[in-house]
Amino acid sequence: MKDSRTLDLSRSRALFERAQQTIPGGVNSPVRAFRSVGGTPPFIARGDGARIWDVDGNEYIDYVGSWGPLLLGHRHPAVIRALEEVLAIGTSFGAPTEREVELAELICDAVPSIEMVRLVNSGTEATMSAIRVARGYTGRDLTVKFAGCYHGHVDSLLVKAGSGVATFGIPDTAGVPARFAETTITLAYNSIEAVEQTFRQRGGEIAAVIVEPVAGNMGCVPPADGFLECLRDQCTRHGAVLIFDEVMTGFRVAFGGAQQLYGVTPDMTTLGKVIGAGLPIGAYGGRREIMRRVAPSGPVYQAGTLSGNPLAVSAGLAALRELRRHPEIYERLDRLAGELTADPPAGVTVNRVGSMFTFFFTGRPVRNYADAQTCDTERFARFHRAMLERGIYLAPSQFEAGFVSAAHTSEDIAKTVAAAREAAVA
Ligand SMILES: *Cc1c(COP(=O)(O)O)cnc(C)c1O
Repeated sequence: MKDSRTLDLSRSRALFERAQQTIPGGVNSPVRAFRSVGGTPPFIARGDGARIWDVDGNEYIDYVGSWGPLLLGHRHPAVIRALEEVLAIGTSFGAPTEREVELAELICDAVPSIEMVRLVNSGTEATMSAIRVARGYTGRDLTVKFAGCYHGHVDSLLVKAGSGVATFGIPDTAGVPARFAETTITLAYNSIEAVEQTFRQRGGEIAAVIVEPVAGNMGCVPPADGFLECLRDQCTRHGAVLIFDEVMTGFRVAFGGAQQLYGVTPDMTTLGKVIGAGLPIGAYGGRREIMRRVAPSGPVYQAGTLSGNPLAVSAGLAALRELRRHPEIYERLDRLAGELTADPPAGVTVNRVGSMFTFFFTGRPVRNYADAQTCDTERFARFHRAMLERGIYLAPSQFEAGFVSAAHTSEDIAKTVAAAREAAVA
């Protein structure tokens, strides 16, 4: 029985060895290399709905969903149709197009705190630009962030960052000048006291507070009662810009993002992932008064050759329209993810907000990065491998969120729960 579960990854292994000759670590984004869980990363041949297949023909139920973008699953018909339509027209013009206006209007409509929005090509670009705009708007230099939150690989934000930085235990990234890191103050997530004290001491120097309103990049960690409200209150009092980094949570935890779910309104919001349905995109937006500072209306420069790319915009527009047409999708996601996390294996703490979840291999509650770091990552690695052998594809790191998509079925979930029960004791 056990033997039949041993995965044949021979073609993936050959590709991985070949890749390492020309690509650093063999991958184009670090966590994909499976270093923290060991073994060979399956090279993916194709995906459909909630499933993916690797180059050796192994089939998996996918809870990575391209790290968040695929809320509707792989190859959703509406997204594929939209892409086919665009292919008949052209791939890029570097000139304004009608669909960009439609996407901007849809985003502003869905997320009322966004009165104006600029499209970029990734979440990293979105946060980098938002910070710049906040600095330009306030004339201040300091940014407050929270340990374990990841905001892309922006120089000044790679301080105690989550995601791959947490996975590899990298304290400070080589190549980031100390001067840049010094413009960032890092506080413990969910610590109202730390936020109040920092504003008391340096409130007049703080340009922006950037936060994942539901943290996803140290694993899923929901905001504690009053935490987001405290950020709102302190930023308002001290004239700082509150930025919700909703690259992961936007259109995922609710159509209007975490700000809709928790009823707290930021000054600026960054988006990505779901708004591109699997194509490269990002966006930043916010109050009109702030966004008017962006070139060419204002003095803060930000540009992009492929920004507003027709393929990414069309895919995103199709996905968001589908979500707007079917708001019941969010109830379904919540129900499925609830079934998945209802009865976690012994010694595991589960956190979940909507369709985002993490099984933390620790006995204690996880409310911040220090709590997340109490996890037994060796045990997680064994669990991950046992799940992969049972056809369940989870993010290859303890410090990541898993994602349920609208393409998952109750049968997929039941199969996953049964696999998890076995894998936890393996
Ligand atoms: C993924 C992510 C980013 C970075 O987006 P990229 O498209 O990978 O550059 C930024 N912030 C959050 C919260 C994210 O989850």
